[in-house]
Amino acid sequence: RAKETGKARCVIYSAEKFTQPEHDVSLEAAMFQAVRDGEFLLHYQPIVDARSRQIMGFEALMRWMRPGTGMVSPAQFIPMAESNGLINLLGGWALKAACVQIKRFEEIIGRPLYVSVNVSPRQFRNDQFIDVMNDAIRLSGLNGEQLLLEITEGILMSDPEHAESLLNAITARKVRIAIDDFGTGYSSLAYLKRFPIATLKIDRAFIKDLPRSVKDAAICNVVISLASHLDVNTVAEGVENQEQLDYLAKQGCGLVQGFFTGRPLPPQEIISLLEAEQAAREAASGETVDEP
Ligand code: C2E
Ligand code: MG
Ligand code: MG
Ligand code: MG
Repeated sequence: RAKETGKARCVIYSAEKFTQPEHDVSLEAAMFQAVRDGEFLLHYQPIVDARSRQIMGFEALMRWMRPGTGMVSPAQFIPMAESNGLINLLGGWALKAACVQIKRFEEIIGRPLYVSVNVSPRQFRNDQFIDVMNDAIRLSGLNGEQLLLEITEGILMSDPEHAESLLNAITARKVRIAIDDFGTGYSSLAYLKRFPIATLKIDRAFIKDLPRSVKDAAICNVVISLASHLDVNTVAEGVENQEQLDYLAKQGCGLVQGFFTGRPLPPQEIISLLEAEQAAREAASGETVDEP
């Protein structure tokens, strides 16, 4: 309290503090209406090859655009949707919409892409999850291997029996599993042996201070090397500069995702980006082919 009365006291900060609980209740109420009004949308962040920087896929990231208020952070509304159960509806929609969208991106770029979709613990526990996933594949016409489901370590640790049977059902459809925010949860090397995991996403916390931080460098190097020995892919999250990218590429991290190689963008902006890339490629090949 004493600190807040000092000269550094910020009015907005203290106002936020006082209105937070009330605000949360109205935000949660607004959420149900927002689902009906279609205020939720998906942005897409490129996941690129660490060496060539070619786009290999996209992570679908949910956004809530409130008219008159602006964007609500997923860090705020995802936990709310998780506790009130709306996440099943929202997450199911996201899964289908993302698969359909990626098919469109593919048509523009003319080569296969994959899509990474976050799955929350409550969705993962829901009996209908497999049906929703199968619908998403069928509706979009994607191949199973083009879909990557991002789950967290906690999901595997809390109910390993359920996780094992569900993951086996998922991988039977060729859909792949990624561990999101790897290294920040209740990690256990045993689950890398037990479960069919295709990808580890190294959390931004370990990337942030690369390459200077000796500890972070050690952790990243060990994760990349472990993954490569297990034939598991690695995606470094939150890559924000060239040094981080160079370091990770040199260590053998296959894929990176971050503001440096591409921010999350609405589908229309991704389409413009892919069209520009495709036009550049066609122009380049046109020059050599059409030359008399
Ligand atoms: P996440 O799955 O770990 O997603 C990565 C987050 O890092 C995203 O935050 C992304 O915008 C942010 N990010 C990407 N590159 C950078 C970078 O270079 N620097 C920094 N500082 N941040 C970067 P976002 O979009 O705010 O999402 C936050 C979290 O909300 C996600 O973390 C995920 O756990 C959850 N989330 C988002 N969409 C969904 C969804 O559709 N379903 C579920 N269940 N959770 C979602
Ligand atoms: Mg994620
Ligand atoms: Mg992540
Ligand atoms: Mg993360």
